[in-house]
Order: sequence, then structure tokens, then C-alpha cells
Amino acid sequence: MAAIASSAARTIDTTYSKSVSCQDGRFGPSSGVQYRRHNARQYIDAPLVPKVVAEQHYAAKCTMNSNIERLEKRFAGHDALILDGGLATELQRRGHVIDDPLWSARLLCDDPAVIQQMHYDYLTAGANCLITATYQATFAGLENAGFSHSQAADILRRGVDLAIAAKTQWQNKGFNNAERGDPLIAASVGPYGAFLHDGSEYRGDYGLSRSQLAAFHRERLQLLAATEAELLACETIPSLLEAEALREVLHESPGTAAWFSFSCRNGTQICHGEPISECAKLLDESPQVVAMGVNCTAPQFIESLIKELRRATEKPIVAYPNSGETWDARQRCWTGTSNPQQFAELARTWQAAGATLIGGCCRTGPEHIRALRAALGK
Ligand SMILES: [Zn+2]
Repeated sequence: MAAIASSAARTIDTTYSKSVSCQDGRFGPSSGVQYRRHNARQYIDAPLVPKVVAEQHYAAKCTMNSNIERLEKRFAGHDALILDGGLATELQRRGHVIDDPLWSARLLCDDPAVIQQMHYDYLTAGANCLITATYQATFAGLENAGFSHSQAADILRRGVDLAIAAKTQWQNKGFNNAERGDPLIAASVGPYGAFLHDGSEYRGDYGLSRSQLAAFHRERLQLLAATEAELLACETIPSLLEAEALREVLHESPGTAAWFSFSCRNGTQICHGEPISECAKLLDESPQVVAMGVNCTAPQFIESLIKELRRATEKPIVAYPNSGETWDARQRCWTGTSNPQQFAELARTWQAAGATLIGGCCRTGPEHIRALRAALGK
């Protein structure tokens, strides 16, 4: 069982000077902005979830025949299971500054209440599954930012605890109902490129071997697999090689369920260029992969990508694209429009093409999820 944070409070001095890529959201170019930050970061290690609640949650995860079977039944029983929307871009829209090598993971350390509120807002908007704020939280990244190894582990667990706390808060207000079911918590595992923070998660050209990628992912994946999260969200994967590495590491934690989701360049290929149907064939053979699909991709490619996936697998398909706006590298701003109703109308075509788990990624927010719930939800 995952350790529940102790009640001790401590302060960490984080003093660093780095060249960082200043991304607006999950994609966009590096600005090469130089900055220096000298301050003391408050890292309050207080319990987020009462121990008894965490134990009940973990017991529910383990007492079914298996967690994997339970998820398979859950997905089979849904026409559409609504996921949440973007995290980092929504934090930015709310005025939080996350131009930091740790990106949104910085708020796990500095202002966890903001993350919990975001999860809560997505539940009230209609989400049935929360994705944790651990996408860019890695041992290497946190240690580069001045945290010790054990503190990095605490911060990763905290990402899951915040989602559980939001779910408990939502249920305690009486919003839960049998029709929607118990909200799931998916622990985000971002790609190697998210740690580099240079946009390479949309290219996948890291120059690393499969075993090097597996070594990078191993400890974080194993830690998140041991938390109360029902499954892992291995997301924004740009290459078949990284999917192979993640699958290898996932198989080292038998009984752990995961969805694998790819970032894609067009209607048939993932960002690194491999056909998504090849990725589906690889993952179709893994009993621990309970769903596969696409995220952080332009909405106009999603229907085609789902059809490509469906030709290669009968597993549930997950789809959570970006809003449809595009990043203007010269002007350093987003262009185009995002209309939640139009997004939800498009989502009907994703559902018709075979997607079961549907939500939003960059530049989507609670209004998109509310529209999805109205268009697709029971
Ligand atoms: Zn995204």
C-alpha cells in the first residue's frame, strides 16, 4: 500500500539557475529563456487523504477478482466514459505561472490545493476519470530541481493523493450517483520528452535505446503502480520504441492496468512516424493494456486514428485530443478558436468510430467536459 504522507511539515530551499524551455501547454517551441530564481519553496507534507479513506480505496482496488477484470467490465458497460480535460493549459488560463522545468508538476510541490481544485472542478463538470498531475513529475526532473529522491517519491504519490482527495470531497458533497459510477483515477506517466521539456515528446527523436527508455520509466512507473490509482495513463507517447519500453516495464508489475495513448501527426501515423495500427498490434497482445488510443493531437485526425486502431484491436479505445487551437511559434500564442459545443459534436463521431473513453487534452477545460457529458453521457 502506498505510504500516506506524514504530518511533518518541512521547507526546502530550492535555488537554481537554468536555461529552460518556456512552453505554453504541452507543445510549442523552446524559448530558451534564461532566468534565475532564488526563493524558498514551501513543501508542506501534510496528509491529504485520511488513512482510513485511502485504505478503503486500496481495498476496493484489490478485492475484485482482479483490477484488470474490473476495469474491463467497467469499460464494456459504458457507451462513453468521460475523462477530464487539460491540466497545464487550464492552470495557465486560471493565471498560474508554470514556465518552469517542472511545468505543472511544480504546483504539486508549491500549491497542491490548486491541483485538487482542478480535479474537483472536472468531477463537477462530469468527468468519470481523473488523470493525475504526474505527467511531468519524474525522479530526474524533481532531483534536478533540488528535491531528494525520497521527496521526489512523496511528490509523485501526492499527485495520486490529490485526485483521491478531490474525489472524496466530491462524494462527500453527495454528488456521486450509481449511474455515473465511482470515478476512476489514472496515474499519468508522461513520455521521456516531457522530462526534457523541449517539445521532443512530439517528435520522439531522443536518440535513446529501448533499454535506456525502460530504465528512465521503471522506478516512477513501479511507484505509481503501487498507489491507489486504478490504472496508469501512459500518455502522449510519440514513438513505437517508447511504447515498447513502457510495455516492458509495465509487465514487470503484473496485475497493474494501463492505457497507452499516442500523440499523432496525422490520421494514420503517430508523431515519430510509425503507423498507429502497428502500435495497436503491439499492445493488443498485452493483457495489462486495458485501453489504447490517442491524445494531445488535433481533433480533425481523431476519427481516422480511431478507425485505424479498431482495425487492429478489439480493446477499448481512448481519445482525448487538444481543443483544435494551434500554437503560433512566431507570435508565441494560440490561434484559432475552441468551442466546447463543437468539440462535443465532433466527439460523437469519435464515439461512433469506436472510442469509449473520451475527454480533452491541451486547451480543453471544464466547459469542454461539461459539453461532452451533455452530448455523450448517460
Ligand atoms: Zn495535450
